[in-house]
This record gives sequence, structure tokens and C-alpha cells, in this order.
Amino acid sequence: MSSPSGRIIDEYEPIIGRSEMQEILELAERVHGARIIHVNSTMYGGGVAEMLRSLVPLANSLGLKVKWEVIEGDDSFFKTTKSIHNALQGNMNIEISEEMWSHYLEVNEGNVRKLDLEGDVILIHDPQPLPLILHRRGGVWVWRCHVDMSSPHPDVWARIREYVLKYDALVFSLERYAPGDVLGKPVYTRFPAIDPLSDKNRSLSVDEILRVLERYDVDPDRPLIGQVARFDPWKRPLDALKAYRLAREKIPGLQMAMVGSFAHDDPEGEEWYRKVKEEVGDDGDIHLLTNLKDVEVNAVQRSLSVALQMSIREGFGLSVTEALWKEVPVIARRAGGIPLQVIDGFTGFLIESPEEAAERAVYLIKRPWMARELGARGHDHVKRSFIITKLLKDYLRMHIDLVGLAPEIRIR
Ligand code: UDP
Repeated sequence: MSSPSGRIIDEYEPIIGRSEMQEILELAERVHGARIIHVNSTMYGGGVAEMLRSLVPLANSLGLKVKWEVIEGDDSFFKTTKSIHNALQGNMNIEISEEMWSHYLEVNEGNVRKLDLEGDVILIHDPQPLPLILHRRGGVWVWRCHVDMSSPHPDVWARIREYVLKYDALVFSLERYAPGDVLGKPVYTRFPAIDPLSDKNRSLSVDEILRVLERYDVDPDRPLIGQVARFDPWKRPLDALKAYRLAREKIPGLQMAMVGSFAHDDPEGEEWYRKVKEEVGDDGDIHLLTNLKDVEVNAVQRSLSVALQMSIREGFGLSVTEALWKEVPVIARRAGGIPLQVIDGFTGFLIESPEEAAERAVYLIKRPWMARELGARGHDHVKRSFIITKLLKDYLRMHIDLVGLAPEIRIR
């Protein structure tokens, strides 16, 4: 679907309204032609790729020149970067050898030749491509960190900080994620967001949903709860299964969807998939669904009575945003950006244990009218604050700010 103007943004007008759209058009006009380059480490899997897939074409259709580059690495590189990620997220039992650090730098250096890094603003996402800053030629360099870094492993952070301090500005998902010892750097807070028109989130016909449920043997006549997450220890998939089993004691016939994916840059996926599979055993009411297409994830989310997110750490938790957008109440731990989205008793419930999650799930399944109320408020909440056009607007404002740091670019 494309509007007569050819601008993708026009398609969002029915959702965001005319004045919001006008504001975005005016902001975009001020940085018309600005060359923006996003660099991350995967085209598929996880929240960053999910956002870039929508954000990049949207911004391009407004006259910016935005590119999305992906760094390449071997298995040992991604093993190291996942360890760095885990350490920054607070795992204190991580050791990264000198050899691993050197390989991390070498792989980044090797990527410099393959990537286009000639832009006005270069946005580097997460730790994997962080050392590219050592090879900067021009432009304003921004590190966009999606990780909760409020209590990082001190030694790993000390190494990473050397590179972070070379950036011109930093972006975190929440203010409190910014470590205290980067003071003096411009720090921006940008909430992640979902695209309401993508296959992952667009509205679906009843037939489309039923076809997906049939394909995966889910009974549409019995209630379903589920967790959508990469296979990752921090997402606590086994807690989600435990909560489900406890809830089923009170709701016979309850089904569970464990929807999980493997990201190319995440070597822990296979191991955690095996653990989950073993725990599921031959329980036919638990549907372990891997690497679904976006529209299939959408259909499963839309058929949930309640969504679970048992994670103990989250950057922001886009799976939660997606469920709320679909008017599904969410029961989740108080991790990362979750409490911004799950407002206890208003859009879902914040819990601390699988037992509590089970209790709340049963409560909502027995009171569909209440689940409907919470879900409707969740949808409104997401529409106000966590929609891709809002993120685009926030980024445009930041570009206007930052492009001001690069004297060669004219701001209109
Ligand atoms: N996702 C998916 N298929 C899956 C599991 C997850 O498409 O089987 C998507 C999910 O819909 C969401 C993203 O991966 O868009 C996960 O983002 P989130 O911020 O929740 O977590 P991250 O993986 O970035 O830690």
C-alpha cells in the first residue's frame, strides 16, 4: 500500500493523526538530505533489527539518506560479543581473555573495508560494532546502546568504556541505563517502538489467525497463554513454563505457546532451545514454535488470553509492546523497560515469581471482561508512546541537534 505522495508516513495518518504527521514532516524537512548510517550486527532476530526494518524506509521516504549496514563476524566473535552483552547486563561471572578482546577488535577492523561509514551521523547499535569508532573518518558518531547497563561487570565495562568515550553522543532506552562515568557526553533517551503496520503488528482477519493456529495445532476453542522471546537465559523461558503448568492446575485445557527465535548474533540460542524442549517433553498442550514468520507471531499473539514475559533483564521488551498493541494484557517481571509498559493493574500485572504469574493469569482468564479492559488500555498506552513514528520523531530531533555538531551540514 502506498500513498499518492509516495511517502510511507502518510499510511500512518489514520493512527497518529494529521497534526503529528505534520510535525514529523516539518522536522524531516530540517534535515532533508542528511546521510544517516545505522550499523548493527544482525538483519534478523531481536528488537534492534525489528525497529531498523521499519525506521530506515520510513526516514528515507521523508528525504533523508539512511543506510543500514550489518557487520559480519565468525562464531568466536559472536561468542565474545554475547559475553560482553551479558557482562554489561550484569553477569559478574564472565571472563573475557586478551585473545578474545583482540579478535573482537580485529573483526571490527576487518569490517571497516566492507561497510559504508561515510555519513553525517553514524549510529552504532550495541557492543558488537562499538570499536568501529577507532576507524572513524568523518561525521558525528553516536553509540546507541539497547542494553540495561545500570550495573555492569566492572572490568568489562572499563574496557568497553574506552571506546564509548570516543563517541560524540550516547543513546539509551532509559535514562537510568546510562552509566554514571560517562558524564559530560550528550546522552539521549529514546524509547524503542513497534511498527503498527508491519506484518508483526498489522490487524489480521479472523481467517488469517485461524489458519495459523491450525497450522501449528493450537486449539482455538481453548485458552492460550504464551511468551514470545529469543531463547536466552535472561528471558527465563523455564519460568514461563512453570507459570503455565501451575495455571493449568486451575484452568484445565489451558494451552501454552512458547514462541522463540534464534538471532544470527546470539550463540546461546541453540543451547537454550534444547533446555526448553527438554522441559516441554511430550506435553502436547505446550506449543514450542520456532522461527515463525512475522505474520505468524502476530496471529499467535492475537490469540493469547494473556501474554507472559518472565525476563529478569530486558533492554526495553518489544515483545511486551507488541502484545499490548494487540490488546492482550501482559503479566511480567519488573525488568528493564517493562514497568513503563506494564502498568500494574492498568495494562497488566507486574509479578515476581512463576507462582504469582500463574495466579494472575488464572485471575484474568476467569475474568475476560477485565482482561479486555486492561488490553484496551495497553493498546492506547502503546499508541501514545511506543509507536515507530514517535521514535522517528525523536530521532529526527536528535539528528537536528547532532547535525549541528557537524559544521559541514546545513540545518534548514
Ligand atoms: N521475535 C520474533 N520471533 C520469535 C521471538 C521473538 O519475531 O520467535 C521478535 C519479537 O516479536 C520482538 C523481538 O523479536 O519483536 C524481541 O524484541 P525484545 O525487545 O522483546 O527482545 P530482544 O530480543 O531485543 O532482547
